Amino acid sequence: MFYIHIATYYCIKLIKLMSIKSKIRTIKDFPKTGIMFRDVSTLFADPEGIRMLVDSFRREYELRKDIDLIVGIESRGFIVGSLIANALNKGFVMIRKPGKLPGKVISQSYALEYGEDSVEIHQDAFPKGTRVLIMDDLIATGGTVAAAISLVEQLGGIVSELAFIVDLPDLGGSRKLMDEGYKVFSLTEFEGE
Ligand code: AMP
Repeated sequence: MFYIHIATYYCIKLIKLMSIKSKIRTIKDFPKTGIMFRDVSTLFADPEGIRMLVDSFRREYELRKDIDLIVGIESRGFIVGSLIANALNKGFVMIRKPGKLPGKVISQSYALEYGEDSVEIHQDAFPKGTRVLIMDDLIATGGTVAAAISLVEQLGGIVSELAFIVDLPDLGGSRKLMDEGYKVFSLTEFEGE
């Protein structure tokens, strides 16, 4: 009987995750030729999609004792991060593109395919020793979240985990960060990128 319950639980979980994936639209050749853009705006626009998203992350993190705060990366990371902060009854801190935050900031640059970009966080965003869950919509090469990790750690934060709706495993970001010792969680994957 116990094993039937476990099997049912995992079957329901799998169906929900497949359903989340099916609500993410793919737009070919955006923002440039050759990119398959995984567009979570269709998931966010669907009330059932939002509910499944929140339920899935809540189930993953509600019993965790090592998360004090959610940090979200601009801009789709703000949507998923603040939903989950609310569901877990945690605070939410923004990592923003340059020049957007009004207070004193620290910055971290990171490499793009062509050139460089940077992200910023308020210097007083949280006290030293705060245990942080960093969230974004998607991990590809991992460059963006690596910059976010650096900002959190420069402020004395402890990165408990990195969480995404989508992982593109073939771009190697999640593997690289796991090899560096970070915990990485994603709800779904798109192979072949
Ligand atoms: P990366 O730094 O390479 O891990 O890229 C992650 C960031 O770029 C995230 O903030 C994503 O929103 C965005 N991104 C990268 N590749 C894609 C893609 N194929 N579809 C949608 N968003 C992407």
